[in-house]
Amino acid sequence: MTYDPIVSHGVSASLPSPPSYWHATHKPTALPSLNKSVISDYLVIGGGYTGLSAAITLAQAKQQVALLDANSLGFGCAGRNGGFVLSGSGRLSLSAIEDKWGHTVATGMQTEFDGAVDLLKKRITDFDMQVDLVQGPYLKLAHNVKQAEQLCASANHLASNFNVPSTTLTPKDLTARFGIEGAYGGVELEGACLHPLKLASEYARVAKELGATLFYDSPAIHIEKQKTGFLVTTPSGSVSAKHILIATNAYTPKRFHDSVDNKQFPVQSSIFVTAPLNNEQRALTGLTAPMSFMDTRMMKYYYRVLPDGRLLFGGRGAVKGKDAESVKEKQRLYNAMVKSFPSLSGITMDYFWSGWVSVSLDSMPRIFVDNKSGENNALRSSTIGYAMGYCGSGVSFAAFAGQRLAQRMMGTGNVDLSLPLYQSPLKTYPFPKARRLALHGLYQWAKIAER
Ligand SMILES: Cc1cc2nc3c(=O)[nH]c(=O)nc-3n(C[C@H](O)[C@H](O)[C@H](O)COP(=O)(O)OP(=O)(O)OC[C@H]3O[C@@H](n4cnc5c(N)ncnc54)[C@H](O)[C@@H]3O)c2cc1C
Repeated sequence: MTYDPIVSHGVSASLPSPPSYWHATHKPTALPSLNKSVISDYLVIGGGYTGLSAAITLAQAKQQVALLDANSLGFGCAGRNGGFVLSGSGRLSLSAIEDKWGHTVATGMQTEFDGAVDLLKKRITDFDMQVDLVQGPYLKLAHNVKQAEQLCASANHLASNFNVPSTTLTPKDLTARFGIEGAYGGVELEGACLHPLKLASEYARVAKELGATLFYDSPAIHIEKQKTGFLVTTPSGSVSAKHILIATNAYTPKRFHDSVDNKQFPVQSSIFVTAPLNNEQRALTGLTAPMSFMDTRMMKYYYRVLPDGRLLFGGRGAVKGKDAESVKEKQRLYNAMVKSFPSLSGITMDYFWSGWVSVSLDSMPRIFVDNKSGENNALRSSTIGYAMGYCGSGVSFAAFAGQRLAQRMMGTGNVDLSLPLYQSPLKTYPFPKARRLALHGLYQWAKIAER
């Protein structure tokens, strides 16, 4: 049974964990559920990277914090993503941000994006997190001549205006080094990948060690505003809290709280993992070491070589949750892999799973605290805030957003509130019911345009 945020009532504790390669290679930490009434200054709802990182930040500041998640650790994106550590989030490149808001804002956003990668690496070191982090090249591949030119121009612009080093690659380089057929050029950047579910387990370990109280299999089903805070109920308990941090991202129930209802669009992304490549396949493809790839299509394909020599390949998923696992969807993704790596035709698909990414209307994530009165958040008797809308790019950024959200709630941290991430709430989607129809149309159009 697949959870569908637009159709289902909400994540329940009885839903099974995803059949991901990550779950097959790591048993996530088991955590207790809530079966009593508790009181806490801060309550985080959602225990993926955003929520756990917010809990860590609050606990580090010696605040009393409880966290509720509806299912087990890694039920959401944290147990389903590709594990690519990228600088950036949302769907706007630094150049697009610069065009829209100017160079100063784009530089400020780059500081936040790079800060997210730095925060991840610092925590891995400081807390000795075992997450299978591997460094290796990250390649952006052009799927047509126009994109190859744009990729090259953009790489030059990023190098001169934002100090981002990269190497351009010709189609011949790509075939010679990686056996990749059909790409029109590429750009090589520094990259890193990790085991996403181990990262979630490590964040949970650290949050607990710092004093946060974590409850899983405990969905928040009702948020009620009270005189001096909020009462949040779960099927077998409740939490009274002064401040609430919503960190449910694409898994947010369809009617949850005014601040987040209809503010993001859950879109499916699917991944499969092949059998380990044999020596001949490795030699023919050049996929011999940790490296990751992304193409320039509107519906991007992304792939990486896993430490045990398997290929992880991902792309857009089905429009509806009920079609996520269909043979047609699996075959579509498999065919895309074979088109890039003809020598892998026939290789077994050992794992296949899907997950929901949270797409914001203007492609910009938000870390927002509702504060119409303009008072200092730390002095207010109750506040509610959220961080979401990462558009499928959150392995490093979601945890950074969780940290920023906690800082905004506490009134600490040096947050540049003029940046578009913080300045305004997520925009409301018009015609929420028509979103799926529009997405279906977009996929059909992309299929023809990007043939
Ligand atoms: C297939 C796929 C591949 C991806 N690959 C990459 C990648 O390679 N690199 C990258 O940077 N990003 C990637 N992403 C995106 C990235 O994984 C996410 O942006 C990030 O994990 C979001 O973290 P989060 O904590 O906000 O959300 P999640 O990890 O989704 O956590 C949300 C949590 O909220 C809980 N929840 C929902 N409702 C309730 C409720 N009522 N009460 C309590 N809890 C509730 C859910 O159970 C869930 O655990 C990918 C995403 C997908 C789906």
